[in-house]
Amino acid sequence: MPEQYVVLGAGVVGLSTALELKRRVPAAHVIIAAKHFPGDRSVDYCSPWAGANWMSTATDNGVQEEWDAETYRRFGVLADTVPEAAITRMDLKAIFDRPIEQAEVLSQVTGKIWYDKITGGIRPVPRDSLPEGACFGLIMSTFSVNTQGYLAWLSTQCLQAGIEMRRAHFDDIRRAFRDIPSDAYFNCTGLGSYHLKGVEDKTVYPTRGQVILVETPKTPMKAMYFRSPRRVDNDTTYVFPRYPTGGVVLGGCRLDNDWSGEVDETLADDIMRRCCALAPELGKPEDLKVIYHAVGLRPSRIEGPRVDSETIDGSLVIHNYGAGGTGYQSSWGTAKYAVDHLLDSKKSNL
Ligand code: FAD
Repeated sequence: MPEQYVVLGAGVVGLSTALELKRRVPAAHVIIAAKHFPGDRSVDYCSPWAGANWMSTATDNGVQEEWDAETYRRFGVLADTVPEAAITRMDLKAIFDRPIEQAEVLSQVTGKIWYDKITGGIRPVPRDSLPEGACFGLIMSTFSVNTQGYLAWLSTQCLQAGIEMRRAHFDDIRRAFRDIPSDAYFNCTGLGSYHLKGVEDKTVYPTRGQVILVETPKTPMKAMYFRSPRRVDNDTTYVFPRYPTGGVVLGGCRLDNDWSGEVDETLADDIMRRCCALAPELGKPEDLKVIYHAVGLRPSRIEGPRVDSETIDGSLVIHNYGAGGTGYQSSWGTAKYAVDHLLDSKKSNL
């Protein structure tokens, strides 16, 4: 009998984990079992609603920086060689309204921005071109991820690799143990880990985000824009052009412990006003052509992402959930780390 593994969840974390697992254990039969798959639109499925880009929030001088670095490297390969993955190399102009020591961009250990080197050198925004109220700005080479295109590509990669997909909603992880016998289970259920019996991690909480997809403006957009008091803050504004299918994502907000999936129209107007003030290519708020408004609940966790393993009722469970606002930019790193856990546990059982 070949080894069999189940990945619970088909967001960016589950799909990346399944692909990494199949790459490193090619003979294994891998099954993704999930309530939602790419193409579904639900407030309970965060991945389609992300901005999304890569700008690390890690400052731990440790494993979180490693996860993001690994993903930056893999995004680079995809952007340069796989156009259908819908990842585009692009500059990001980031403006901060607090002094750099208070903006939470510096490593807690080195006092430097750790990703300066891997991004090819971060440049300062000239002081005389900073908007009123800003303290400093950075320009870095990074990636814009067209989430619809990327999730579809990940899903196709899984099918081509022979990974099976099964629609299933488990109220209890132990039902997965009974229904789909497996050598180990990867728990990539995001915010679902709050409710999933057998896990029920009550340190998981939603961080509500609201975005607007608008038509591609007449003036081509060559860069992403970001403005915020700190790297992670409630009052964050961002403008992420999407290629190849175009459109521009406008955001945002970060509202902790808010489970509402309803669009707040007043907030939407405010986001459009802030984005137009930040990105001149967009023109005036009244000129924007809205395709849709959306709400996404980031799967946050008090202590940050959980990537570890435990035994539940005799089954090995490797957790990879709680990515909060970083699920894309850390995806390949946490997937690698989760699969390392499996391979380490196999070695120690020899
Ligand atoms: P999800 O995408 O929510 O997937 C969870 C999966 O588990 C789904 O398939 C679901 O159906 C399944 N599931 C849950 N419970 C069960 C169950 N009981 N039984 C079966 N299946 C279950 N990240 C970045 O890196 N960069 C960004 O710029 C960025 N911007 C963002 C902007 C916004 C507005 C939002 C909302 C998020 C943003 N994020 C960004 C965060 C990113 O989207 C998330 O971290 C990521 O999508 C989480 O992925 P996930 O796979 O863990 O969860």
